[in-house]
Amino acid sequence: MPDNCIFCKIIAGEIPGTFFYQDEQVVVLEDINPQAPFHLLIVPRKHIRTTVDLTTADNALIGHVFQVAGRIAHDLGIAEDGFRVVNNCNPAAGQTVWHIHFHLLGGRDLGWPPG
Ligand code: AMP
Ligand code: ZN
Repeated sequence: MPDNCIFCKIIAGEIPGTFFYQDEQVVVLEDINPQAPFHLLIVPRKHIRTTVDLTTADNALIGHVFQVAGRIAHDLGIAEDGFRVVNNCNPAAGQTVWHIHFHLLGGRDLGWPPG
């Protein structure tokens, strides 16, 4: 585990996080600064720094991320109204945590284009 990775520390149980769901590949955390009525973070257990660092070995993992997103949206009752899965990659996109993660946002109308 890289030093000072907050998501690795949460996954390892070293610092607290609110787990919404977890399986062998991902954990789903409640965002501490929610931007919508539902704001979850789908976080692969594997430490991958950014989207640019993905390799073909991660293809099934990323497919799983989106399957989990759809299933959770369905369970939350927001699948039909609509929801968004967002990955911020690198500073101009607003990435602040350097462990790949996917925001699942829903429960309100989401503007487009995003800021
Ligand atoms: P990003 O800016 O795309 O890298 O997203 C990082 C997200 O992680 C932000 O929405 C933060 O609110 C969220 N976040 C940061 N620290 C924690 C934490 N300890 N537990 C849950 N969410 C966090
Ligand atoms: Zn990490």
